[in-house]
Amino acid sequence: MAEIFFSIDLRILSYGTTIAAGMLLWILEGLNPFFSEQKRRSLHAKLNLSMAALNLLILLPSSILMAFMLAWSKTAWAGIGMLTLPPALEAILIILLIDLWMYVWHRLNHEMAFLWRFHSVHHSDATLDVTTSWRFHYLEILISELLRIPLVMMIGAGIEHLLLYSLFMTPVIEFHHSNVSIPPALDRLARLIIPSPMMHRLHHSRLRSEHDSNYGSMLSVWDRLFGSFLMRDNLDDLRLGLDHESDSDKQRLFALLVRPFRP
Ligand SMILES: [Zn+2]
Repeated sequence: MAEIFFSIDLRILSYGTTIAAGMLLWILEGLNPFFSEQKRRSLHAKLNLSMAALNLLILLPSSILMAFMLAWSKTAWAGIGMLTLPPALEAILIILLIDLWMYVWHRLNHEMAFLWRFHSVHHSDATLDVTTSWRFHYLEILISELLRIPLVMMIGAGIEHLLLYSLFMTPVIEFHHSNVSIPPALDRLARLIIPSPMMHRLHHSRLRSEHDSNYGSMLSVWDRLFGSFLMRDNLDDLRLGLDHESDSDKQRLFALLVRPFRP
C-alpha cells in the first residue's frame, strides 16, 4: 500500500485538502447561503475555530501515538492483511470498515447519555456552517481517538489507510455541515453516496426524533442499511441546535467546555 502513494505525501495532501475545502465552502456559503438569515459569521467561526484549535492539541500527539502503535502492531498482527488481497482492494475494505466504525461511534454518541453530554456540544450550535464541522468537545475527540487505536490495530490498518480515509472523509464532513445552498436534485444525487447537506441539516434539528438519524460520516449507505436514514423535502420550518442553548452566554468557549459537567 505504501508503495502506491510513494510519491505523494498523504499527510500534507490530507491537511491541504481539509483547509482548501473549508475555505472554498466558507466563500460559497457567503455567496449562496441555504439559511440566509445567519449573521455574524466571523464571530461564530471564531468560537468554533477556538474549539478546533484545542482539539488539535489532542489530535497531534494522538496521531503520533497511532503511528507508533500501528507500526508495532503490524509486526505481530496482520489483520485484514491475512487475506492477502490486492493492495487497492485491501485499502477499500479498510476504509469501509473505518467508516462503519464512525457510523457506530456517532450513533453511540446519541444513544448513550454519557457520550451525549460531550457530543451535544457539537449539536448546541444553532448556526450550521462549515466551521461547525470542527466544533467538538475535546473529551469527545479524546475518547474517540483512544477507542480508534485498538480498533484500527485489530483491522490491521496502516497509517496510510487512515490518512487516505481522512483525505476523503474530511471534505465530505465539511460539505454536509456547510450552509451552501445547492439544487435539490444535486442534493438527492449526492445522498445516494454521501450524507448530503440536507440530510445533515436534519441531523442538527432541534427535535430529537430528527437529530437521532443520519449518522453517516463519509457514506450514506450505513444509515440506509441500519434504518437511521431520515429525509423530508421541505426544511423551511427546521430549527437548528438544542432547546435552551442558543443564549449568547451559553455560546462562549468556557461555557461549552464545562457544559458536559453541568448537572
Ligand atoms: Zn450527531
